[in-house]
Amino acid sequence: MIIASNFKTNHTRKSTREFVEQVEAFVNESNSTVEARIYPTSTALDKFVTDKSIKVGAQNFYPTQNGSFTGEVGFEQLQEFDVDSVLIGHSERRHVLKESSELIVNKYNFAKDQGVEIVYCVGEPKEVREAGLDAVMSYVWEQFDGIDLNYDRLVVAYEPVWAIGTGLTASNDDIKEVLKRLRDKINKPLLYGGSVKVDNVGDILDIENCDGVLVGTASWKAEAFIQMIKAAQNIK
Ligand code: PEP
Repeated sequence: MIIASNFKTNHTRKSTREFVEQVEAFVNESNSTVEARIYPTSTALDKFVTDKSIKVGAQNFYPTQNGSFTGEVGFEQLQEFDVDSVLIGHSERRHVLKESSELIVNKYNFAKDQGVEIVYCVGEPKEVREAGLDAVMSYVWEQFDGIDLNYDRLVVAYEPVWAIGTGLTASNDDIKEVLKRLRDKINKPLLYGGSVKVDNVGDILDIENCDGVLVGTASWKAEAFIQMIKAAQNIK
């Protein structure tokens, strides 16, 4: 089970360190085997010393080692902090920051060449969901164009755009159907994301083919994130 927290544009260096330390203390005390992932802002990355079941990864990077890309962070900068997991294709980067499919594929290939874990996010906007499951799946499959599904360190996160940061969660049946169809073609861990909360995480983790969750808003307090890790421990 993977329980991942996406900080988006929240937390400082200090509060990120406190968060990581709290999670680390819990994992050590409880001997948790749940795979925890924490994606802070780039400015809060650091050489965290954590249990091997915890990875502090990057929300974003530019597909280069280094170079002239003002404002961007390359892999050389991530490697300084031993970053071994990255998010790619998050809906906020696709829709708010207007990342093109071409850039997303470039990022994917670059990260793959570096050998890091990739949490690749896909998901449909509201109007596509309203058109039904087949429309959802054809939208989602298009987001896999150019993406190597055989990459051994791939993790897929199904995150309906309309459920991210809105408080609206997809129904368990809808999640189940999409994960089932993804599972037919993808033999990698499948996560769900979109307004997961402490209250619903247990039910979501119980859904067939659900190997974990990617959580934004409801995971920003370490206590809540730890509750989600506990819920995952109970599923096993
Ligand atoms: C996310 O950022 O991936 C996410 C799912 O956010 P939220 O939990 O706030 O919907």
